[in-house]
Amino acid sequence: MLMGYKNMSDHMSKPLSFRQELVGAMGDPIDENPTQPMIEAAFRHHGLNWRYLTLLVGRDDLAAAVAGARAMNFRGFNCTIPHKVAVIDHLDGLGQSAALMGAVNCVVTRDGLLIGENTDGKGFVETVKRRREIDNCRAAIFGAGGAARAIAVELALAGAKQIIIVNRSTERGQTVTDLINSTVRELAPNVAALFVPLSENFEIPQHVDLVINATSIGLYPDLDAIPSIDLDSLTPNMLVADVIPNPPNTRFLQAAKKRGCEVIDGLEMLVAQGALGIHYWTGTTPETAIMRQALEKIFGQP
Ligand code: NDP
Repeated sequence: MLMGYKNMSDHMSKPLSFRQELVGAMGDPIDENPTQPMIEAAFRHHGLNWRYLTLLVGRDDLAAAVAGARAMNFRGFNCTIPHKVAVIDHLDGLGQSAALMGAVNCVVTRDGLLIGENTDGKGFVETVKRRREIDNCRAAIFGAGGAARAIAVELALAGAKQIIIVNRSTERGQTVTDLINSTVRELAPNVAALFVPLSENFEIPQHVDLVINATSIGLYPDLDAIPSIDLDSLTPNMLVADVIPNPPNTRFLQAAKKRGCEVIDGLEMLVAQGALGIHYWTGTTPETAIMRQALEKIFGQP
């Protein structure tokens, strides 16, 4: 009798709910995407009754999937290949950098509206800020795909002075360079971008402070692959980063460490962009060490 009374008063102070708040990732392929264990480790740690679902959504099903997410009151979702650009047509608005990049990797429900954000570059910038000032820094970015574009835009917005885009395909490299020198420069007048075609044994200019591999070179299972860089042009004053999360300790980072450079691995970037997503969705700033531990259980420690 006493127990029943106690439970009733508990219910009156906090309504009983068995419903979880939902977020997730939409992509194809998606099975090997490790975001779910990383995000749910943070949900558990912070006592959040939320679920992150790994959702296989083919190109032709995107519209239905987004409508389904709205109907099921998803609080947001991540988008990956092949939806980062296509999803924009199904959203109600875009954040500043997603609009500049023309790509969305994180959708957030705000006041019932689906707003597209891009956390890839923002997450990367967070990892650099833990070590160096970005104001007036000079960066060399290898690659001109989605990751490189996101990083270039956010570095420019954060105050970088020079961004050298080094890429195999001239067309893609020039497109990212032009984006920085036009629309982005209107918001970040300090920046100047320069395109340099990737050549064999590319020599990194000695004034560069930040070197980033933003290509897919080195991604599992190509463990021995390394960007075509003259490794002896890496000097200890350079901060060297790799976007590859698997394996985290790429051959490129191993070579940089050997030459005395401080390094940032792709797991740190993955965690940082995931933490931003959690903050956008839940308002909680998550404990990133918990998220990294969850990934290290999967990928191993660097
Ligand atoms: P894209 O396919 O859009 O771009 C790939 C880039 O790599 C292009 O610039 C391409 O050059 C270059 N590239 C690929 N192979 C070679 C090669 N053999 N030689 C020279 N250049 C090459 O991919 P994304 O930008 O979306 O992703 C790139 C990597 O970033 C992926 O491995 C992904 O896992 C990682 N990533 C990591 C994140 C993290 O949080 N850690 C977040 C997002 C991505 P070209 O233009 O000439 O084809």
